Amino acid sequence: MSLVSHVQQIATQYPEKVAYHFMGRDTTYAEFQQSVERFASALQLLGIEKGDNVGFLLGNSPHFLISLYATMRIGATAVPINPIYTSEEISYIVKNSDAKAIIALDALLPLVEKGEDIFTTVENYIICETQPDTADKLKALPDSLKGKVKSFTLLISNSSPNAEPVEVLDDDNAVILYTSGTTGQPKGAMLTYKNVYSNARDVAEYLSFKPEDRIIATLPVFHVFALTVVVNAPLLMGATILLVPRFNLQDVFTIAKECKATVFAGVPTMYNFLYQFPEGKVEDFSTIRLAISGGSSLPVALLHNFEDKFNVRVSEGYGLSEASPVTCFNPIDRDRKPGSIGTNIVNVENKVVNELGEEVPVGEVGELIVRGPNVMKGYYKMPEETENTIRDGWLYTGDLARQDEEGYFYIVDRKKDMIIVGGYNVYPREVEEVLFEHPGIIEAAVVGVPDPTFGESVLAFVVKKDQSLTKEQLHDYCVEKLAKYKLPKQFEFLEELPKNTTGKILRRSLKEQTI
Ligand code: AMP
Repeated sequence: MSLVSHVQQIATQYPEKVAYHFMGRDTTYAEFQQSVERFASALQLLGIEKGDNVGFLLGNSPHFLISLYATMRIGATAVPINPIYTSEEISYIVKNSDAKAIIALDALLPLVEKGEDIFTTVENYIICETQPDTADKLKALPDSLKGKVKSFTLLISNSSPNAEPVEVLDDDNAVILYTSGTTGQPKGAMLTYKNVYSNARDVAEYLSFKPEDRIIATLPVFHVFALTVVVNAPLLMGATILLVPRFNLQDVFTIAKECKATVFAGVPTMYNFLYQFPEGKVEDFSTIRLAISGGSSLPVALLHNFEDKFNVRVSEGYGLSEASPVTCFNPIDRDRKPGSIGTNIVNVENKVVNELGEEVPVGEVGELIVRGPNVMKGYYKMPEETENTIRDGWLYTGDLARQDEEGYFYIVDRKKDMIIVGGYNVYPREVEEVLFEHPGIIEAAVVGVPDPTFGESVLAFVVKKDQSLTKEQLHDYCVEKLAKYKLPKQFEFLEELPKNTTGKILRRSLKEQTI
C-alpha cells in the first residue's frame, strides 16, 4: 500500500465525497482521482520516469494536489519549492535537485522564459493557468521554448485516462524537501514513499481524522507541516481539504464558518494574528473540534488566550522536514500539556541525549533525537551531512529538549539559538514566554548579542500593542519574572517581526539588525 493506492481506494469507496474545496468549488474524490491519473499519463508521455525529480513552483491550489499525486503515481519524486523565492534561490534548488521537469504557476512564466540560463537540467515546463491571458502568453513564447513549455490544463484534458502501471518501492524517493537545517545552503531531505505514507497515516490516526473532517489548509503546501498534516493525512482518511490560497485573516474566519471546518492547523504566528484580529468571532470557529499548532514553539500565554477567546482546544505538536515531519503530538483525547509538544506519536520514538548520545535522566536538557519509519533516507547528494545527522538509526534534530515523568517532551530551544551569558545558558524561549504574558505586547523574539563583559547578552525585540509602553517599564516587568542573567539588557521596538513564508520568526535577520 502507498499513499497513491490508498487514496485510489478512498476514491472508490467515497467517489462523491468532496476531496477539496477551492475558491467556492468542490472537487470529489472521483474527479480528483481522474485528474491524477490523466496528469500521470501526461507526465509519462513527456518522458518523465520513475526516479526522475520534478520541481513544483506551486502554492495552495488544486494544481499542487494533482501534481503531487500524479508524480507519486508514476514513481517520480516531487521537489516542492516556495514559489516566492528569488530566482537565485529557485535556481539553486532546481540545479541541486537535478529537476528534469518543472510544474509552475503562470506568475513564474518570466522566470521560465529565462530558463535556458538558469534551469540547465530542465527538459519540460508545465505552466498552470490561473490568469485569463496565460494561454496567449504561452503562444507568444520564443520558438526555443515552445517545444518545452506545456499547459497544465491541456495536458490533463488531452491525455489518456489511464497511466501505465509503475512499481514503486518503499525506499524510493517520494519527495525531496529543501530545508535550511542548522547551517549552510539548503539541503534536500529525501523522504521515501514509506516515510511520507507512514507519517501521514500515523498523524491521521493520532489526531483521529475522520471522513467527516474538513481541514483548513492555509499553511503553505510546499512546507512539510502542511504536506503531511493538511494534505496527505486528510486524503488518506477521505476527509475534505479546504484550500485557502494564502493566509488572510478574514478568509480563514469566513471559510471556517461557511464550510463548517472541523480542524485548523497553523504555526504560532498564525494563532497570534487570529487572536489579535478584531473582527474574528467565536461563532466562526464553532464547528472546529481541533486546532493544531507546530513549526515553532507556541507561547503558553498565547495558547490560553486563543482557547479562551475562541473556545477551541489547541494541541501542539513537533516535527521537522527530515522526519516527514511529525514525531510528537499532544494527545487529543487526554490532557494536553500547555508548553509541551506532547508524547511520541504511534511508531515513532523520541529520546533526549547528552553529547555522547546517551539518554539523560527525566527533567534534564539534552538534544532531541528521533527514530521511526518517518525518518528520511538522507540528504540528496550530501553523504557527509547525512552521516552527521543520522547516527545509529537516530535522527539528531539540533533541538534541545527535556522529558517529564509522563513521557511528555518540552522543546527548550534550538541548540544554535541558545545564548550564553557569563557561562549561564539562556534559552530565548524562556524569556519570550515571559514577554508574551505581558498584555501590552503583541509578539516578541530574543537573540544573543556580543557583550564585552559577559560574552553575550540578551536583546529583546518587541512589537507593542500598548504604544505607551516604555523600555523602562519592560525592564521592571522582567526583573520580577526572570533571573538576573536572563534579563534582556536591551529592548528594541519594531513594527513587526521578520518571518519566513511559513510564519517562523527569522532570528538570523533580527541578529543582522544588531550588527
Ligand atoms: P522545518 O524542517 O522547517 O519543519 O523546521 C523544523 C524545526 O522547527 C525543528 O527542528 C524545530 O526547531 C522547529 N519546531 C517545529 N515544531 C516545533 C515546536 N512545536 N516547538 C518548537 N520548535 C518547533
